[in-house]
Amino acid sequence: MWRLIFIGLLIWLIIHFARQYFRQQQNKTDTAPKTDELTEAMVKCEVCEIHLPRTEAYQHNNRYYCSQAHLPKKDV
Ligand SMILES: [Zn+2]
Repeated sequence: MWRLIFIGLLIWLIIHFARQYFRQQQNKTDTAPKTDELTEAMVKCEVCEIHLPRTEAYQHNNRYYCSQAHLPKKDV
């Protein structure tokens, strides 16, 4: 009986530390310096649905577009 509880506790501990380890690994990749601007704000082009940083996107009526070619024309 005690043996079962001990094994259960051991498994819980392993899962607990494994989770913590993976979370740390994820944090490391999340805070990589070169992706700072990209993770800041990603937007989706309304036409081709490609994702790009907001600083590189064209904005029109609170919508974002990847290029001037995908911007809606004013006279249509
Ligand atoms: Zn586009």
